[in-house]
Amino acid sequence: MLVVSKLTKKYGKMYANREVSFSLEKGEIGVLLGPNGAGKSTAIKCILGLLRFEGEITIGGFSNKTSDAKRIIGYVPEMPAPYELLTVGEHFEFIIRAYKLDYESSMEYAEELMQRFQLTEKRDSLAKNLSKGMQQKISIICALLPRPQMLLLDEPLVGLDPYAIKQIKALILELKEQGTAILVSTHMIDSVEGIWDKAFILMKGRIVASHAKEDFRGVWQESLERIFFAATESIANGDWDDDEDRTGDSDKRGT
Ligand code: ADP
Repeated sequence: MLVVSKLTKKYGKMYANREVSFSLEKGEIGVLLGPNGAGKSTAIKCILGLLRFEGEITIGGFSNKTSDAKRIIGYVPEMPAPYELLTVGEHFEFIIRAYKLDYESSMEYAEELMQRFQLTEKRDSLAKNLSKGMQQKISIICALLPRPQMLLLDEPLVGLDPYAIKQIKALILELKEQGTAILVSTHMIDSVEGIWDKAFILMKGRIVASHAKEDFRGVWQESLERIFFAATESIANGDWDDDEDRTGDSDKRGT
């Protein structure tokens, strides 16, 4: 469903993403894991076609820049950016009209999601008067209404209360069951511990480890935390020269 091949993005001389490659199948939950500044948001923006980059990205077999690809992708940004002067309900009407979705069934779906996220009572409230958590829920519903085959969630759990976190995790697992491919970027390992199928660990712009959960099945119950620290220990200890490596002046890894 998603194939990212040798994605490279530079800001000036600095590599925000360097030769990043990974893929996700239908019904898989991938986590893009790395500390702040690792390059997660940049990778997500490149996948969405919001930034220019080198390399190749396909979604459902289509180049990510095509409208065919954009039609099947949903995105929840790190910072919700609702239309301040629209009410909660008006957001969903807007999405339904913009995507030319079937009005009746999409409104029913919006109702169901509003109930789940306890937004029903806020239907007539202006988005600007809602908390960040509630704005995030509007964002998630807007992304889901067109029933995307591929969902990108950039740090989706930051700033949410434990109840909302539980609901979003449950929703992610349901979407997986329905065959949606889901990519979640996060710096909070714990938040995705129970739900990942594939983990892509990003440090200083590069993928330093990729693992599928099933690789560990029957061997031992591997925790994402252990995988993360095993992959990143040498880098955290300074075995990589930060500035040189990221600007490409030295290439100790030989790639
Ligand atoms: P993450 O999402 O993992 O926190 P980002 O993708 O936001 O990381 O950032 C990766 C690197 O690229 C960081 O060093 C960041 O400072 C830099 N960066 C991000 N956006 C820009 C930009 N618009 N201009 C210059 N540098 C940027």
